[in-house]
Amino acid sequence: MDKTLAILKPDCVERKLTGKALDFILSRGFNILALKMVHLNPAEARRFYAVHRGKSFFDELINFMTSGPCIPLVLEKENAVPAFREIIGATDPAKAAEDTLRKLYAESVQRNTVHGSDSEENAQKEIAFFFSLMEIT
Ligand code: ATP
Ligand code: MG
Repeated sequence: MDKTLAILKPDCVERKLTGKALDFILSRGFNILALKMVHLNPAEARRFYAVHRGKSFFDELINFMTSGPCIPLVLEKENAVPAFREIIGATDPAKAAEDTLRKLYAESVQRNTVHGSDSEENAQKEIAFFFSLMEIT
């Protein structure tokens, strides 16, 4: 079945929303194949978000993503990549649809609680960034 990479971002962990976010994800039919808690350092965060290098929000994004631990997850579902993007909602929580993770929990465009891979190709790269084959059930 299809896989995607999700991250419960530092704002989610800091505000103790981990359980609620995981429950939401599981209740939408995703299986969790792998999960860990990591505290990214700046070099790791810059590498993960390399596509955004040079954008106005890049430095702030790196500060945020390194501000505390986050929880990367490998999720499985049919059409996992678009299905997960649908349940997280738009990047800006003010524009996110009802009953999406970002609508429910995000604080701002930056502190938006959760990451989801945006393509099949990126999902594979992002899964390999955080997890070895042995760690994925
Ligand atoms: P993600 O990649 O984290 O799932 P996304 O694909 O919805 O989010 P991207 O355009 O890839 O959005 O931006 C990556 C992250 O950078 C956003 O989730 C957000 O945390 C931050 N970000 C994006 N745009 C802005 C902005 N205009 N101002 C501040 N932060 C931003
Ligand atoms: Mg993105």
